[in-house]
Amino acid sequence: MSYFFLDEYEHMEPYVPGEMPKDREYLKLNANESSYPPSPKVLEAMNSAEVNSMAHYSDPHCMELRKAIGEEYGFPAEQVFVGNGADEVLGFCMMSFFKPGMKVCFPDITYDFYRTYSTTYRLDFEQFPLKQDLSVDVDEYVNTDRDVILANPNNPTGKAISVADIERIVAKDPKRMVIIDEAYVDYGNESCVSLVKKYSNLVVVQTFSKSRNMPGARIGFAISSEDIISDMNKIKFAFNPFNMSSLAIVGGVAAIHDKDYFHRCVNEVERVRADFEDALENRGFGVMRTTTNFAFFSCPDISASELCKELKKRGILVRHYNDSRINNYLRITIGTEKEMQRVLSQLDEIRGRKYDRAC
Ligand SMILES: *Cc1c(COP(=O)(O)O)cnc(C)c1O
Repeated sequence: MSYFFLDEYEHMEPYVPGEMPKDREYLKLNANESSYPPSPKVLEAMNSAEVNSMAHYSDPHCMELRKAIGEEYGFPAEQVFVGNGADEVLGFCMMSFFKPGMKVCFPDITYDFYRTYSTTYRLDFEQFPLKQDLSVDVDEYVNTDRDVILANPNNPTGKAISVADIERIVAKDPKRMVIIDEAYVDYGNESCVSLVKKYSNLVVVQTFSKSRNMPGARIGFAISSEDIISDMNKIKFAFNPFNMSSLAIVGGVAAIHDKDYFHRCVNEVERVRADFEDALENRGFGVMRTTTNFAFFSCPDISASELCKELKKRGILVRHYNDSRINNYLRITIGTEKEMQRVLSQLDEIRGRKYDRAC
């Protein structure tokens, strides 16, 4: 640590991204990325004219993209904030509305970034334990006086809360901010974005990283009241006015407009996921059915950490967690049908060898 680094970051815990080893070619199913490319319209939009336009600054208001997103979800651009990935959107949201000592809450098992941010900026955070079945205990969030951050569906359990339950949380106290991170909403879940029309304490965050196959483009957005969005823009203009590149802006607009491609990709992922989950169940795995682009399952006869290591040896990266409540689970991103068949045959081989050793 340098002489200059602020004391207040002493307890910082940087977020640890899924590993990206370069020693060989891996099938990377550990970060919920996509095995499908972005819409071909995205490539078309990022054409040479746009590349040449990089000689100028991008639009700091990101108007075209905010308009396109707003039209898609039924809101004016003034109610849409866009940022460099959902992570940055969440960051701006917290920077705008949370200061050291403020009370927030989120589940004990959820997207790690919430704790990272809360620790770094010394929020007074509480992690409510998920219930025994790893679902969110909605009443805890209804009854707390803390601001709320929930991933819905949750990552890594893949379990979703109904919009009616979200509304119970939001409606309880208009002075309490509720941030709902809908990174996986497009895989067969109902978005709570319609509640933004009724409540002014709700921020709904989504991303192009999952269902629009564009994690590398870094595009995320929030939909909320006009006041909240304008506050976040004030902070953005005080921190990084040109936070979105011109390529991200035109690519994002093109991705939003290509609804047909979007639906085809999402449907395909849902189909492959359901088949993969069936196949795991038939093999005796404990499958937590999800409505996301990943599967979450436990193995009856090998520890998840060993399974994770064995898969890595065979060129397949998946996510394993140290938290004692889920350390017998693996999270695996849904790739193409062929990729998931490769995973299944590797799982069979790993378990087969284990049985051989046992007898
Ligand atoms: C993947 C993910 C994000 C990150 O989205 P980016 O747009 O890539 O920053 C945010 N929240 C959850 C719950 C996620 O799983």
